[in-house]
Amino acid sequence: MDLIDDQQLQGERSEPCPRTLYVVGTPIGNLGDLSPRAKSILKKVSLIACEDTRRSGQLLKIIKSKVPLLSYHKHNFKRRQSKLLEILESSGSLALISDAGLPGINDPGQELVYAAKSNSFEVICIPGPCAATTALVISGLPSERFCFEGFLPKKQRLRKKRLQDISQEHRTTVIYESPHQLIKLLEDLSVACGKERPIQIARELTKRYEESIGNTIEEVTKYFMTNKPKGEFTIVLGGNNNNQNNRVSESEALNKLNKLINQGEKSNFAAQKIAEETGYEKKWLYSQLHKSLDK
Ligand code: SAM
Repeated sequence: MDLIDDQQLQGERSEPCPRTLYVVGTPIGNLGDLSPRAKSILKKVSLIACEDTRRSGQLLKIIKSKVPLLSYHKHNFKRRQSKLLEILESSGSLALISDAGLPGINDPGQELVYAAKSNSFEVICIPGPCAATTALVISGLPSERFCFEGFLPKKQRLRKKRLQDISQEHRTTVIYESPHQLIKLLEDLSVACGKERPIQIARELTKRYEESIGNTIEEVTKYFMTNKPKGEFTIVLGGNNNNQNNRVSESEALNKLNKLINQGEKSNFAAQKIAEETGYEKKWLYSQLHKSLDK
């Protein structure tokens, strides 16, 4: 790495520039993924804001950086802001890093970037690994358009609504989850999207025991029932690609449902059949049916 000339890495201008906030991507497992440019910035800025000073201290030790660290996390980011902006104001330079990956992606960062820009300081990203995009590009699922959901809400009502939205989403969806909540998430996704929905689970990306597990929600749930989830996981869920989707309006779908029931079909079975035919959620069709009966 050191063989590469610093100036060559830095392109035309010499970095770090004064009055500039650098948002720096750091490895999500494999230290070899720290870019030479990131390394150079982390050795030269005036101060590094990081989530956990002990964890980032280890990284700085490895790259032999003596730059001071200041903790910047979800519990103190408001308090820290003025101090960090003062450094930029006095012509210093700042780096923002998180425990792993890209700051601002399910990690602190957004507020500091906003504050720096609002105060006319320059903000530059030194790109690096991100679990979401890393998992997406090896999933084999459509990647030209995708959504990122991060962690789903824990509160039942919010979670239900989010799962409902995800089940209807046509684009590939990327979700983060901890190992002890993974099976619960898969069960919830199975109810919302159906057990046949394509899915790829990336485990321990960039690390020694990296693996990808697929191909449907049913298959991966069975896998994790016998192989206890351990390590870090990113979930890539295929979109709702029912070909009939959007071709039939809600009222048409409900008419079809009522017609089947009037023909003597049981409502549960009819809702399942129309869900498969139209792409509308079985639960939603069923609830609409009850609404019309209540009137
Ligand atoms: N800022 C990070 C990024 O750019 O990816 C994400 C931080 S978020 C707090 C941490 C979550 O990212 C983990 O719970 C896991 O879902 C996912 N993740 C991080 N590292 C991973 C890895 N090596 N393999 C799979 N997923 C990972």
